Amino acid sequence: MIFLASEHKGEVEPLLKQFPFDKKGDHYIYDNLILYINHGKGALTLAFKSIELSLSYNIDVALLFGLAGSVSDFSIGDLVSVSKVKLLDGPSNPVYNPMELITVKGLKSVECVTLLAGFNFDSEYIGLFGDVVDREVYFFAKAFKSLDKPCFVFKVISDKNDRASINALKKESVDIGKFAEILKLIMWIDKDELTREIFVNTGFMDKKPIDGLKRLIQKRKYTFTQRQFLYKRLRINGSRCEKKAFKAKAVFLEKGVKTGRAKFKTDKIYKINDYVPVFHNLKDRTAIVYANKKGEFLRKTPNNYTPNGGYGYSILGQYNCIYDCSYCFLKGYFKSFNPVIFLNFEDYFKAIDEVIKRDKTRPLYFYAGTFSDPLALSFAGDFLAV
Ligand code: SF4
Repeated sequence: MIFLASEHKGEVEPLLKQFPFDKKGDHYIYDNLILYINHGKGALTLAFKSIELSLSYNIDVALLFGLAGSVSDFSIGDLVSVSKVKLLDGPSNPVYNPMELITVKGLKSVECVTLLAGFNFDSEYIGLFGDVVDREVYFFAKAFKSLDKPCFVFKVISDKNDRASINALKKESVDIGKFAEILKLIMWIDKDELTREIFVNTGFMDKKPIDGLKRLIQKRKYTFTQRQFLYKRLRINGSRCEKKAFKAKAVFLEKGVKTGRAKFKTDKIYKINDYVPVFHNLKDRTAIVYANKKGEFLRKTPNNYTPNGGYGYSILGQYNCIYDCSYCFLKGYFKSFNPVIFLNFEDYFKAIDEVIKRDKTRPLYFYAGTFSDPLALSFAGDFLAV
């Protein structure tokens, strides 16, 4: 069964006319599709109701469809698929960790920012965290993560957070024809277990590649593990390396950081209390974060990593890089691919001193570039010079 939810009736009204649904209490049923409309009751009601209906119908796939405002360069009317969602408390504080979603092939994928409150927000600031803004996606995705069910989110761009496009917005004029086609395809996909498995693991939205994969799997009698390996390979081969040059639009400055040590200058400076939630939620390649490192300053390398029976330590002085080499593990290591430069150098020296005092006989090696490329980031901080 497929579960489809929407926050407002206006967003799915054309579907109610197009599919011969039967109304059953607060939801609608047609074939293998359950439709729930939340009538603007808010994200938490949407999440709880979605869980309740999904459990009672034992659904296989969940979909959320609705409108979203663009804080990026999308055009009004674009149908997009959400790949990641972040939660911002009010219009400024990122909270918790972002959640990854499966995207479908053939649609533009976007990062969505769910705002807990505030209709008046700074598009430029929110644009550092995502491409579109809404009120429900985070909670919907969280609900289906808790159920361990695949969940897809489709949005139609309704406005660009400017007066002119908001005034021009008429919900009933939103063309959901393309989404209706996708819905029919997902209903077809859902009727066969292997087809559904291929869809939720690859995001293929075309009968041809799905049928091709199905034939291959059946002919070679692939086991579950072999199928997972195949899907993983398809995902890796389908991911693309960013060719764009790194261009930071803003700087985030953590409270207490000695600003004189930051080399990168820009007019867009945001002061923050804690760098971690900002760093985790930023859209890739949008900003540089300056912070003071806490906790771990050195990380011991594996035994036998260093010559002559010595011990090695990676200095956690910076994170990430400005380049995007296809073979580099860094872009998958952290939750975002933005440089973080730590400027409390004294604490690193203290940590190195302690290791040296503790271990006077063995050769010791200290590495500067395990989690960053210090040379590539030297334009932003003085780590190498220190
Ligand atoms: S850290 Fe090195 S390998 Fe990784 S992206 Fe930067 S330059 Fe490339």
